[in-house]
Amino acid sequence: MSFEGQVAIVTGAGGGLGREHALALARRGAKVLVNDLGGAVDGSGGSVSAAQAVVDEIKALGGEAMANGASVTDWVAVQAMVQQAVDAWGRVDILVNNAGILRDKSFAKMYMDDFRLVVEVHLMGAVHCCKAVWPHMQAQNYGRIVMTTSSSGLYGNFGQSNYGAAKMAQVGLMQTLAIEGAKYGIHVNALAPTAATRMTEGLMSAEVLAALQPEAVVPAMLVLAHASAPTRTILCAGAGSFEAAHITLTEGIHIGLGEQAPELLAEQLAQVCDRRNEQVPQSGSAQGTLEVGKALAARAPT
Ligand code: NAD
Repeated sequence: MSFEGQVAIVTGAGGGLGREHALALARRGAKVLVNDLGGAVDGSGGSVSAAQAVVDEIKALGGEAMANGASVTDWVAVQAMVQQAVDAWGRVDILVNNAGILRDKSFAKMYMDDFRLVVEVHLMGAVHCCKAVWPHMQAQNYGRIVMTTSSSGLYGNFGQSNYGAAKMAQVGLMQTLAIEGAKYGIHVNALAPTAATRMTEGLMSAEVLAALQPEAVVPAMLVLAHASAPTRTILCAGAGSFEAAHITLTEGIHIGLGEQAPELLAEQLAQVCDRRNEQVPQSGSAQGTLEVGKALAARAPT
């Protein structure tokens, strides 16, 4: 799987998964802009030295890379980062939105500032980067964007209401950008990784962490960033295992006009939630159309 001649931006690539992503893309021929704020796991502090160290590693392998120390929360700095790649290499083919922080607390103890900052980094950081690369990808009729979501967003985790909400928001961003990007050849996907990094150290046993090598996530990122990538896929990856997560819709029921009492719905809730014949609507409006279709079918003379 080659990335020869392509230009990639990987955010938060000064360590952990982002570093592995940047190295893997570079090894396969991409020119990589390595972004990292270089702060602590809670987002405090910062230095470009983390990004520069990964650039040095890529150059030592014979690859081409540039460092950037912008915070993805800074819209002006993110635009300058994308311009830095375009000025040097003429295009941006791949954006991997990987930068992230944690500020875990149970919701009862959560400070609003910690909630806001986590949303700002994960959601608005991804929004800024997508918005800045979008016109370039549209103009060249090609782009691959990889969001980094999380099982915390998809399925919840104690103490991660801020992080889970921000991570699931990236899935919502993916859904609409994939629809809007389709006619420009822009594919947008989400990666849900599990890996032993500074983010997960102390959260799992040493035995589990030993199995969760960050390199084991990289094939999933490469598949989502490649020319052959699908679009609107949520790919889970950890310890060499790969799964797809779907936001599905049950077949449900229809209750006729004039009969729509909550008691009747409550009685049939098990059938509404029955997962046999689930489907994945192609868009939000397609889901609405399905509902209207059921109503019309119920009204049609038999
Ligand atoms: P990590 O802390 O090693 O990597 C995150 C990187 O993002 C750090 O290098 C950090 O400096 C950088 N960063 C933080 N705020 C930034 C900002 N404002 N601007 C630019 N860079 C910033 O942790 P990781 O596990 O490698 O995490 C990478 C991504 O994967 C994150 O989005 C994380 O939420 C996600 N993720 C990780 C796991 C896991 O199991 N490790 C699970 C699910 C999701």
